[in-house]
Amino acid sequence: MTNTLEPTIPKPENIFYYNYPIEEIFNEFSIDPKRGLSSEQALKSLELNGPNELKKVKKSLIKVILAPIINLLIIIYLLSAVAMWALGEVQRTVPTFIIVGFNAIVAIVQQLRAEKQLEALKKLSEASATVIRDGKETVLPTNEVVVGDIIKVKTGDKIPADCRILECMNLSIDESSLTGESEPVKKTQDLNPNHEEELPLQDQKNMMFFGTFVALGQCSAIVVHTGAHTEIGKISTMLEESSTGEIPLRNKMNHVAKYLGIGVLILLIFSIIWKSFVLSSLESLSWDSFRDAMILSIDLGMKVMPINLPLLTTIVLLTGVLVMAQKGVIVRELSRTESLGRVSVVCSDKTGTLTKNEMTITKIWTASKEYEVSGYGYDPEGIVHYSWNRANPVENFELDMLISSGYLNNNCVLNQKIVGTLGKSKTKTSWSIIGLPTEASLKVLGKKYKSDIDDKIKVYEFIHEFSFDSSIKRMSKLFSKDGNKILFTKGATEWILPLCSRYQLEGKNLPINEEIRTKILENMNLYAGQGYRILTITNRLIDETLIEQDLESETARQTFESDLIFLGFVVILDPPRDDVFQAITDCKKAGINVIMITGDSISTGKAIAEKLDIYNEGINLAIEGNQLEGISEKEFPKISVYGRVSPEHKQIIVQRYQKMGKVVSMSGDGVNDALALSMADCGLAMGIQGTEVAKEAADMVITDDSFSTIVTGIREGRSLFMKIRTIIYFFVCVSVMEAIILFSATLNINDPFFEMWDYGQLNILYVTAHLFPSLGFTFGNISKTIMDEKPRDSAEIITKDIIKIMLVQMLLIGLAIIIVYYLCLNGTIGLSEFNLSGIGYNGSPNDVPQFQIKARTMGFVILFILESILMPLQIRRINHSLKDSLHDINYKKEFLFYIPSFLILIVGIYSLSIQEIIGQNLGTMFNFNFMFLDIRDWVICLIACLPALFGFEYIRKIARKKHISF
Ligand code: ADP
Ligand code: MG
Repeated sequence: MTNTLEPTIPKPENIFYYNYPIEEIFNEFSIDPKRGLSSEQALKSLELNGPNELKKVKKSLIKVILAPIINLLIIIYLLSAVAMWALGEVQRTVPTFIIVGFNAIVAIVQQLRAEKQLEALKKLSEASATVIRDGKETVLPTNEVVVGDIIKVKTGDKIPADCRILECMNLSIDESSLTGESEPVKKTQDLNPNHEEELPLQDQKNMMFFGTFVALGQCSAIVVHTGAHTEIGKISTMLEESSTGEIPLRNKMNHVAKYLGIGVLILLIFSIIWKSFVLSSLESLSWDSFRDAMILSIDLGMKVMPINLPLLTTIVLLTGVLVMAQKGVIVRELSRTESLGRVSVVCSDKTGTLTKNEMTITKIWTASKEYEVSGYGYDPEGIVHYSWNRANPVENFELDMLISSGYLNNNCVLNQKIVGTLGKSKTKTSWSIIGLPTEASLKVLGKKYKSDIDDKIKVYEFIHEFSFDSSIKRMSKLFSKDGNKILFTKGATEWILPLCSRYQLEGKNLPINEEIRTKILENMNLYAGQGYRILTITNRLIDETLIEQDLESETARQTFESDLIFLGFVVILDPPRDDVFQAITDCKKAGINVIMITGDSISTGKAIAEKLDIYNEGINLAIEGNQLEGISEKEFPKISVYGRVSPEHKQIIVQRYQKMGKVVSMSGDGVNDALALSMADCGLAMGIQGTEVAKEAADMVITDDSFSTIVTGIREGRSLFMKIRTIIYFFVCVSVMEAIILFSATLNINDPFFEMWDYGQLNILYVTAHLFPSLGFTFGNISKTIMDEKPRDSAEIITKDIIKIMLVQMLLIGLAIIIVYYLCLNGTIGLSEFNLSGIGYNGSPNDVPQFQIKARTMGFVILFILESILMPLQIRRINHSLKDSLHDINYKKEFLFYIPSFLILIVGIYSLSIQEIIGQNLGTMFNFNFMFLDIRDWVICLIACLPALFGFEYIRKIARKKHISF
């Protein structure tokens, strides 16, 4: 026995385990086949072989640090700064480097945080493995699996390491990730008949490989290679780790930024050429004047470039994705977050997503009697009775058989846990299950019927299992008892009844005739019509002649599952989840179509769908999956319930909706759902019920399986992209508008050095009018009305309609500024004494005429009010009127960002002394050169803003009428 505690030894890689008898492998690794590794052995094996991880190629630091910062806009910006520096304007480049530096630091910090958090997110949806250690089954993260571990896998699981099969049943493995072969490979526990021979991977039928999936069946196996020594590990050292830090939206953003950058570049070059032209026509073109012209143009260009646009959108996306994770939606594919926000059709599984998946059998129907079952949930407290007479095994032969059949033809385990005490002697217990809830209900039923059922069924010896397959909706297990072989089959009534040739009545097997068949179906429909799940239970004796055929062969299942004896059916209650009704109401308000998909019968699905308001008689249709083909384009959108669905139907449903231009989300849990999940615009795998295959194929994982979490995800997705669109709208609108008016002002033929605002004023513009509002958008709250809007059709951020609206808004703002500016400039709006009492301390009034100082101040105030107060308020809920948007009281936090910018403006205008202090310490850049404005001036400014305010409200009203959404 001391032998078993010896450390496992790392094996040389050229040992062909597929040629080793299993006993030899056990010996080599010193393992007790029943108990698996001991914790000590596992620890030693871990030390020797290292963690079960594939080597990741570290991304170079430069890539991590520079990738988030570098985009064309930044490059143009930096080149401009270098040009300024070369032109001798070193001082002017100081704020540039402060701004770029600040941006860079935020971007790098954000990037590193994102990498970490996305890594953590990935871990959340990472695979785990069932391992036998110290004689107990435990679930471990894949990277803790070690050489020598005995593992167990079943349909849908991911193979956690390279291993040799010990015992398997109907096992097929999808090895496409390794070999590229798309057909699943049948596996066996047997030794390769041609010993000694070296086999290629695909012929190693008794081996399973890291990263492949169980397509069907189950097995136990012993781990022989982990981590880099596995077959996939050997090739994956060449693969770079799929980069988690790659943020898809950034590419889109960089694209927008690129055009803005190029636009500005063209403008500033044009401005320089124009100025030179004007200067030469005035015969004052010299190096000095040319240099000044260049400095002015470049500086202007730098002020209007929205360099933090890509950064802000990335921050919004990442914070949004993390919030989603907290709320139970783990995003696996960042680029699909947007689709989730735009979803217009949600296809949801019924069982477990819309319902609780806490199955309780409430009735049992047999040909002779109908029994009731008391009790609720997995607690086996309750009885099986017939008008309150406890059913007893002697009188109820088919009931007895039915319950045993359900109990044996079962893979679920019930666990009792003591959670507290009740009084002195009694303890409070809670029951949990490992396995399928449907099967759990049969186990509970057995225990309610006979508390000693486990002893009673010991006479049955397990031989073989034909696993549950959702495309044929049944499962069977073969047992032997007293030399007889008995097959138990259970599954969907309509699918099993045709396989039955006899039924049991008071202990006798009678041939099934039309009469009894109708009776069974009528009764089944009665209960299904009330929303119950129905499961028919059968058995049969198997002749010795049949048993001789290979149980693993393709035909075995068919020959076994025929000539069955109908015992009865159980009626299973699976109530809807509590919060689903509300979530469905929310979807309807949000213009999202909810479709129920179930493997249960249409009657069952329809009844539950009706309760949940998914299905309305007369308006909606409910069909079976295989009727899909005959459904016309016109009828298709009316279908809201699909019953008896097989996985391939899900694919057809996704395709047909996509053909209609809908954005479809599809939920799934099974192995066969993988294709539909990856086809959908937004594939959602269930976190609890879901198989590894489904999770791998999905774009997102719903941790609690609940439909309301899906809807929460949609809400988060919508608000996330609303924010991003708002930020983009804001920056594009503001940058383009400013670029146009600022550069047009430089086209003054009389004065090539005419500036709308001077250098210091442009700095304050940059901070107040650009930075603070965008922070408000970034950190503002979610709109309460986000789920009152219809789904957005266009995947584009800026549609043609939006460009039109934007142009009108730019015109309105631009006109307000320019008109007042020029009215001041030409003296129509005159100077008051108060005005003249406060001209900037270094305001060189000799250089700049007083009228112009006033024009600059007034123009700036209007720009400020329109851009950094009114526009943010108007576009923060861009699809609603300003009035409605203000009612949506979530904006308090956003005001935190408007207040400081307003303070800076006031300081800029009124507090000469503060300016002086700042200016003395930091140089001339804080020299604002504004003029005191009196009440009359403010009133003029406010009035000048009104056309822009109401004009924009008006065009948005028209847009709403025309159903143009932002
Ligand atoms: P859903 O899509 O609603 O989860 P399933 O695919 O799980 O439905 O089940 C579809 C049908 O298959 C059920 O109505 C039931 O009749 C049958 N069924 C479900 N689970 C089992 C099982 N473990 N064994 C046999 N039949 C089952
Ligand atoms: Mg299911």
